[in-house]
Amino acid sequence: MNRQGAAAPGTLYIVATPIGNLQDMSHRALEVLRSVSLIAAEDTRTTRVLLDHYGITTPTVSYHSHNEVRRVPQLLERLAEGSSVAVVSDAGTPGISDPAGVVVRAALDRGFSVVPIPGPTALVAALVVSGLRTDRFVFEGFLPVKKGRRTRLNELAKEERTIVLYESPHRVERTIRELLEALGDRRVVLARELTKMFEEHFRGMLSDAAVHLAEKKPRGEYVIVVEGVEAPKRGRSAGTAM
Ligand code: SAM
Repeated sequence: MNRQGAAAPGTLYIVATPIGNLQDMSHRALEVLRSVSLIAAEDTRTTRVLLDHYGITTPTVSYHSHNEVRRVPQLLERLAEGSSVAVVSDAGTPGISDPAGVVVRAALDRGFSVVPIPGPTALVAALVVSGLRTDRFVFEGFLPVKKGRRTRLNELAKEERTIVLYESPHRVERTIRELLEALGDRRVVLARELTKMFEEHFRGMLSDAAVHLAEKKPRGEYVIVVEGVEAPKRGRSAGTAM
């Protein structure tokens, strides 16, 4: 990228976008999305809302887990022609529980520059307000739904670092119950709808969180942050919502 912020030819940009609040878009991300030849978006309709908000008219194509095998060679072709391409996901940082890995590896293999445009990601936003240890943590993404779930939970029981998980509203109650069974009662934070109108941070023990979720039907997006097994215990605190 040059000093004016225009995109460099033959460069793939991995651009973070907001996780809810459109104001969290960085100046640099806007500059890149304005100046690239093409934006490869997980869902072009979702990205169009963001682009329209900022008056950006750059063409988009879809790039998601179901079409990446076909789409990646096309994107590489564009880079080879000297075009610049930005990859965005529906929310947050591409490559974090979102498509990007395949095109990043393919572009690197072909010798193209791959440049990050950093910005929001739900895992970091949740971790830094959790009050749990942030010096060492492990990001587990979504737990497997069926095969391998029990094994992963048993592994997590021994994990000393703070554990960060993503979860959908229709599975969060089950996941909290199973974490309680496998890990024993531990401090947890449920960060819901970060940066959005109904943002809420529930802090308490896993047993408190299980009760909290059973009382009120879970809605919205959740990050679960659980303390590691060796983290210093600061005593049991009752669950509180922000
Ligand atoms: N690439 C995204 C990132 O950088 O955070 C993650 C995409 S992943 C498909 C979606 C999951 O991220 C959701 O199920 C939820 O666990 C988490 N997430 C995304 N936005 C969130 C938000 N505003 N509040 C809480 N969790 C969120």
